[in-house]
Amino acid sequence: MNTAKLDSHVEQERKRRRTFAIISHPDAGKTTLTEKLLLFGGSIEIAGAVRGRKSQRTATSDWMDLEKQRGISVSSTVLTFEYDDCQINLLDTPGHHDFSEDTYRTLMAADAAVMVIDLAKGIEAQTEKLFRVCALRKIPVLTFVNKVDRPGRDRLEILEEIERKFSIEAVPQNWPLGSGRDFSGVVDLESDRIHVFDPNTQARRLGSIETDWQAVRNHVAGDQLLRNDAGEPLVLNGLTPELVDEVHEEVELVRMAGATLEADRFLRGEQTPVYFGSALTDFGVEHFLKGFIDLCPPPGNRLSNIGPVPAGRKDFSGFVFKIQANLDPRHRDRVAFMRISSGKFERDMEVTVARSGKRLRLPRALRIFGQERETVDLAYPGDIIGVVCPGEFRLGDTLCEGDPVHYEPLPQFSPEFFAVLECPDTSRRKQFDRGIEQLVEEGAIQMFHDARSTRREMILAAVGELQFDVVKFRLESEYNTSTNIQWRPYKMARWFNLSEEEKGQLKLPFSSKIVRDQFGHDAVLLQSEWHAQTIQRDNPGIEFHAIRVSP
Ligand code: GDP
Repeated sequence: MNTAKLDSHVEQERKRRRTFAIISHPDAGKTTLTEKLLLFGGSIEIAGAVRGRKSQRTATSDWMDLEKQRGISVSSTVLTFEYDDCQINLLDTPGHHDFSEDTYRTLMAADAAVMVIDLAKGIEAQTEKLFRVCALRKIPVLTFVNKVDRPGRDRLEILEEIERKFSIEAVPQNWPLGSGRDFSGVVDLESDRIHVFDPNTQARRLGSIETDWQAVRNHVAGDQLLRNDAGEPLVLNGLTPELVDEVHEEVELVRMAGATLEADRFLRGEQTPVYFGSALTDFGVEHFLKGFIDLCPPPGNRLSNIGPVPAGRKDFSGFVFKIQANLDPRHRDRVAFMRISSGKFERDMEVTVARSGKRLRLPRALRIFGQERETVDLAYPGDIIGVVCPGEFRLGDTLCEGDPVHYEPLPQFSPEFFAVLECPDTSRRKQFDRGIEQLVEEGAIQMFHDARSTRREMILAAVGELQFDVVKFRLESEYNTSTNIQWRPYKMARWFNLSEEEKGQLKLPFSSKIVRDQFGHDAVLLQSEWHAQTIQRDNPGIEFHAIRVSP
């Protein structure tokens, strides 16, 4: 371990930071939960803007109008709020149409993730993909099962699905009392209190009562009157004595058969605490937030070429996980989003770009929310800042003070869209080639070429379709060249590591293509998941990777 001395001020700030991302499938309730979390942090204006931003995103059909959309749909940034003396940095992961490599890369900057699952739908495709990235990084994941106010699936079945799909132990922290129209509260399994929900007032502060199942049953049957903390008769809508018995049984079952949450196993990604709630009616959100603050680790050590670097050391360091071009149409600038890994950031400080060895002053660092920009004077481990960079940075770059450190490179993710880009105007060919080269270098898009063909056709590839629109737009606006996109039928890349001889013996589906990526690594492009399973079956003992981690 790098035994750099810890700085007490940095340590103090580090300990109160929580930096996380929400992973979910569209419509599971990420926006609603984000809004409610921000409200607890008192950020009412920002909470409103989150919703506004989303409706702009989904309501706008002209995705090509990037000029208008810029800074909204394409930029994922961070929402910051305070709660319980903690500074919470919620990384905004793009979803829906703008799902892209940025969505994955954002998880590289998070210390934990919250997985939001719709009770009626269970684990959906996008959630699954994002969870795999969290598992790769071994970051802890908390689960929020949303929409318990609506009819949904059996709760035990949801837990079982999480465990089966993700090989992780799902440990419920609360249990809903009824669901759908009968939903009347949650049982906090730790404190053993029932938090009562009243759908008429939707007041989450209706209070709680001690869990005494017999008394609750009697109350529901009309044989006894329970009162809440304020002394008012308890409303347990729609509950019948039978339903109370059912929930009682489930709770006993979960208590007896279920595991208990162990902090170290959670941190290693072996367990996920599960909270049931309803983001829309704000029920269970505060309970979840309190649990989150307790469990989510503050920024810790980060692995580098000189071993783990402690976040609380004095020297500043950070890494670039996202580069956004043209955020401001008037300036045509590029902003590198950096996650601070250690030390203190101060405006105007001088840092070294570890890759190039170049020294740079950072006169302007920004916090960006949609189109709002705010200058940052000071920032600490776990914080995200945007640095205006005239082409100095690449994705994965480390910036640091003192002796250079190189943090682990960002992984490369299997693209889902492939195309050949053509430049119809031959007189602009040079600018076009230079533009593509720079965009690939910057990480805006991946590139593969057929290693066996003499034509060296370049296949560009991206996780999200929108990345192609961005590339097309930037080629037009920055390099003044138009582009035709010729789609290719591939749906995924799988990287492998074999000798030339072994490569010659590979058994591959007819429709696949052996290629090299922009770094010279071997991969095969495939047209379907079925083909991916086929190559794995036909080539036992060879590892094919959907995520390339090595440098
Ligand atoms: P996102 O796509 O994951 O950001 O999902 P949203 O937060 O926009 O939610 C999608 C839809 O589900 C919206 O119509 C929300 O009002 C609704 N919704 C979100 N949370 C809940 C909830 O707890 N209960 C119910 N009944 N609806 C919800």
